[in-house]
Amino acid sequence: MEPIYFDHAATTPLRPEVVEAMLPYYREHWGNPSSLHWSGRAARESMDRAREQVAALLGALPEEIVFTGSGTEADNQALIGISVANEKKGNHLITSVIEHHAILHTAQFLEKRGLRATYLPVDSYGLVDPDAVREAITDETVLVSVMHANNEIGTMQPIREIGAICRERGVLFHTDAVQTVGHLPLDVREVNVDLLSLSAHKLYGPKGVGALFVRKGVRIAPLIHGGGHERGRRSSTENVAGIVGLGESARLAGEDMEWEMAHNSQLRDRLIEGLLERVPDSLLTGHPTQRLPNNASLCIRYIEGESMLLNLDFEGIAVSSGSACTSGSLEASHVLLAIGLPHDVAHGSLRISVGRGNGMQEVDRFLDVFPPIVEKLRAMSPISAAQSAADWPGTEHSHEQEDHEH
Ligand code: PLP
Repeated sequence: MEPIYFDHAATTPLRPEVVEAMLPYYREHWGNPSSLHWSGRAARESMDRAREQVAALLGALPEEIVFTGSGTEADNQALIGISVANEKKGNHLITSVIEHHAILHTAQFLEKRGLRATYLPVDSYGLVDPDAVREAITDETVLVSVMHANNEIGTMQPIREIGAICRERGVLFHTDAVQTVGHLPLDVREVNVDLLSLSAHKLYGPKGVGALFVRKGVRIAPLIHGGGHERGRRSSTENVAGIVGLGESARLAGEDMEWEMAHNSQLRDRLIEGLLERVPDSLLTGHPTQRLPNNASLCIRYIEGESMLLNLDFEGIAVSSGSACTSGSLEASHVLLAIGLPHDVAHGSLRISVGRGNGMQEVDRFLDVFPPIVEKLRAMSPISAAQSAADWPGTEHSHEQEDHEH
C-alpha cells in the first residue's frame, strides 16, 4: 500500500521544479554573493531574482524582503528587532495565547529582560477579538503580533482589522504567516501589516530558509551581527541555493494558488464531514469556515492523539497530534487548552493537513482505516465505556458542517 502524507502543516515535500532550480547553485554557481567577480555575480543575480519572486507573491517591494534561516528566525527577528529598535519609545508587546512557540517563547525571553507582554485570549474557535487589541494598546506599546492562521487548528485571524487598528494607533503590526504564504492570496498592503514572517518549507520549498517582510521605513535592529548582509538586517553569507528554492516555490505558489485552494478545501471538507459522520464523539476544532483550506483538525474523545498517530503510521498514514509526549508525561497543546477544551479532550487531538499531491482516494482510504482504529483504541481505554456522549463539550460546533462556505 502506498504511504499517505497528510502532514503538510508540519512540512511540505520539495517540488521537483524547486529542486531543479536549486541544483545549479550547488553545482556551478556556488560563488559568494558578496564577491565582485563572475562567480559572486551569478549568485547575487539569483538572489535578486528570488527576492523579486517573494516580493511579488506578497505585493511587497524587493528591498522589503529580508532572507532568514527559517520562519522561527523571522519571528525572533520581528519581536526582538522591533523591541530593541524601539527601546526609547516603549516596552510593551501584544500577542495572542495561541501563537506558535517561535513567538511565545521569544515574548517570554523579552519579558525576562524587562519587556511587558500582553497575551490576548481567544474564543472557542481560536479567534482574537480586534477590539481586545484596541483595548490592550497603551502609549508604551511598540508591537502587536498576531498570527495569520494557526498551525494546529487552522483558524484564520482577522488580521486586516487588527492591522487597521494598529495603524490608527501608530503601533507596528507583525503577523506570522508561515502557514498561509503561498496557500492563500495575501497582499501586505491590503492587510495593513508592517512585518510578516514566512518559511520556505511550508510552501514546497527547502527547509532552513525563511523571510521577514519589513515595510519600508520601519526601523528594526538586527538579530545576527556581522558583515552587514541583507542591508545590515541579517549578517552571514547567504544560503544561495536555499534562497533560490524559496523564490521558485513562491513563484510556483502564485501560479497554482487558485487550483490548490480549491483542491485542498475539497479534500479537507470531505475529511471533516466523513470523520464527524463516522466517528462518534468527535469534534471539529478551529473555526468552521474561517480556516486554512488544507486543515482538518479534530478531537476524538476517550483516546490519546499519540495512539491514533502511531496506529495510523502503522497503516502508512502520516498525520499529527496536538499533544506532545514530554519526559513521560503528556502535555496538552496550549492552543487546544486556550480554546477552552478540557485536558482529557485536548489529548485526543488529530491534525490532518492535506496538500497538492493528495487525492480523494487517499481521503477515502483514511476514512475507511480510521474508524476501526478508534474503535479498537476505545475498547482498550478504561474511560470510554463509562462516559456518555452527553457531557461532550462544545458539541454545538461539531455538526455545523452544512454551513461551510469557502
Ligand atoms: N510559525 C508557524 C505558524 C509555524 O507553523 C511554524 C512551523 O511549524 C513556524 C513558525 C516555524 O517555522 P520554521 O519551521 O521555518 O522555523
